[in-house]
Amino acid sequence: MINYSFSFKKYFHLFFLLLFSVIGAQKKFTVVLDAGHGGSDHGANRYYSEVGTLREKDVTLSVVLKVGRMLEKNKDFKIIYTRKIDEYPSLTERTTLANRSKADLFISVHCNASTKTSPYGTETFVQGPDQNKTNLEVAKAENDVIYLDEKDREMFASYDPKSPESLIALKIQQSKYLESSLLFGSFVEGNFVKKNKRFSRGVKQQNLHVLRLNAMPSVLIETGFISNYDDAMYLASEKGQNEIAGSIYDAIIDYKKTFDRNATAAPKPEPVPEEKPLKNDFRILLMSSPSKYNSTDPALKGLNYILPIKENGMYKYYYGTTNLASVRDNNLKTARDAGFKNATSISFVPNQKLGIGYYTLEIAVTSQKLSSNSKVLNTLKDVNRVKENGKFYYTYGKFSSLEEAVKAQKAIELKGIDDSVIQKVSK
Ligand SMILES: [Zn+2]
Repeated sequence: MINYSFSFKKYFHLFFLLLFSVIGAQKKFTVVLDAGHGGSDHGANRYYSEVGTLREKDVTLSVVLKVGRMLEKNKDFKIIYTRKIDEYPSLTERTTLANRSKADLFISVHCNASTKTSPYGTETFVQGPDQNKTNLEVAKAENDVIYLDEKDREMFASYDPKSPESLIALKIQQSKYLESSLLFGSFVEGNFVKKNKRFSRGVKQQNLHVLRLNAMPSVLIETGFISNYDDAMYLASEKGQNEIAGSIYDAIIDYKKTFDRNATAAPKPEPVPEEKPLKNDFRILLMSSPSKYNSTDPALKGLNYILPIKENGMYKYYYGTTNLASVRDNNLKTARDAGFKNATSISFVPNQKLGIGYYTLEIAVTSQKLSSNSKVLNTLKDVNRVKENGKFYYTYGKFSSLEEAVKAQKAIELKGIDDSVIQKVSK
């Protein structure tokens, strides 16, 4: 008995020890530090008699290593460097490294340059749409480097900032990480002003490739103008680099505090009440046309799940099918966004038998009679042929409900008869 209670107590303690060590082993806060440029890509550079040629790639590496050394002393952080020496990791490598590591924050450090010597100060960029033209110069300077690398060329070849898909992708990413990126950017710029007495040009949104592909809050910090004498001397100095690194470090600490507070304060998501299905099915009528389009025709604007139904000589193109109101409304919005401005939702009674008429499958429309050894006539039995206005219309089967017709359509697709159209015959 004594033995039993003793061992119970022992295991009881062990249990709590394990429990606390599990709770204590929180995931480290992972920061990716990206020193801009490197290797054959020097970034911005200017010659000054006091310091020789001041190169952006050297300043960014020095600042990043200083920030990293401070963070490494804190066991709550895991630091990933995109480079620790004078080499050039491609932008693809920089972003895939960041994404693979599931980092919490991505910081790319750079120096600005202008064709004039007067502009000075710091600015921090977050991912976003172009807001003004001066930012475009920064985008060009920082993005030009992508063409140094073959892998980048493939990666970005398909990226067209004017295409709607790219914009949609950007918007989704922005809404998810923009707020956090802006918050961190404001900490950085705030520290530059308050602690280092620098001039801040602000936190700005800009489409920069190095930020675009990151699946985490990301900023690009322009630590000063290499083209401005005072900024350049500051960037070249040990004191200046220490101050910049200190301000970035303090911003990371403050950001993590906010991050931790939000993580503990986040309310549990309310369970979403289950949506009751509607009695009818709903399809979105995109358009009616005398022409038959196959599924890849540009007229269908890239929408999938389209069911054409022929009725009175017109092809009606229906998109999606659902008995949930939320999905129906969403499908309607998708159709209108795709360019079908007059799209409208049509209700279908499920498994409704036609009182008059029937459904059939139009399997071919030709100007010449099909030969008896054509694929269609060889594969299917009892195919009907009607000649109308000089054309031959081939149909197959009689079905009393739309669902039966859809089923038959799938069955003949398995036999290799594609692009048939369900036809409603009203007599
Ligand atoms: Zn740069």
